[in-house]
Amino acid sequence: MDNIKLFDKEFEVYLSPAELSQITSDLGKRISTDYEGLNPILIAVLNGAFVFAADLMRAITIQSEITFVKVASYEATSSKGTVEEILGLEKDITGRHIIIVEDIVDTGLTMTELLKNFKEYYPASIEICSLLLKPESLKKPLDVKYVGMEIPPKFVVGYGLDFDGIGRNLPALYQLVTSDLALDNGQEIDHEEN
Ligand code: 5GP
Repeated sequence: MDNIKLFDKEFEVYLSPAELSQITSDLGKRISTDYEGLNPILIAVLNGAFVFAADLMRAITIQSEITFVKVASYEATSSKGTVEEILGLEKDITGRHIIIVEDIVDTGLTMTELLKNFKEYYPASIEICSLLLKPESLKKPLDVKYVGMEIPPKFVVGYGLDFDGIGRNLPALYQLVTSDLALDNGQEIDHEEN
């Protein structure tokens, strides 16, 4: 597959649709085995995880449910820094088996915040399933039970992930091509939150 250009940046294929499909299907099989008879609720984090969550849900062969949340970040007025607000949790998750579905775990801060928030509802269990994980970017240890693939701390786009709002429709996952190290990590390049 050819390189593509989004705005002024060039991207090369990192994972083909076939590779993504294999990863998702393997995760679906593991979850189906681990959660047999438990009717888990997948909680997918919008926007980035919508494509992955749709494929993962169809790769899960046991009874399961899905719901979606959005994480809104805003600057606190006090010295608290950034505050994350979780929007849209519609299901009652108390006593239920929860699997948070994320597109990519980078610093891990979003997942840490979500775990803290969801634990307040006393679910029966809670695990994370992320298509991608950048282990070198993690700010503190995070237990991600289901990881599609560990990747280096380089910016990726496609398969639901965006570059400043575009590229989510690309069926493959692309990685930024650059020799400019300033651009070579996810924090330095624009993308919509989640
Ligand atoms: P964390 O809180 O783990 O640092 O951030 C996770 C979120 O950052 C992801 O849900 C995603 O929105 C964004 N993100 C991190 N790395 C990348 C990347 O390489 N590409 C894109 N498109 N988004 C990223």
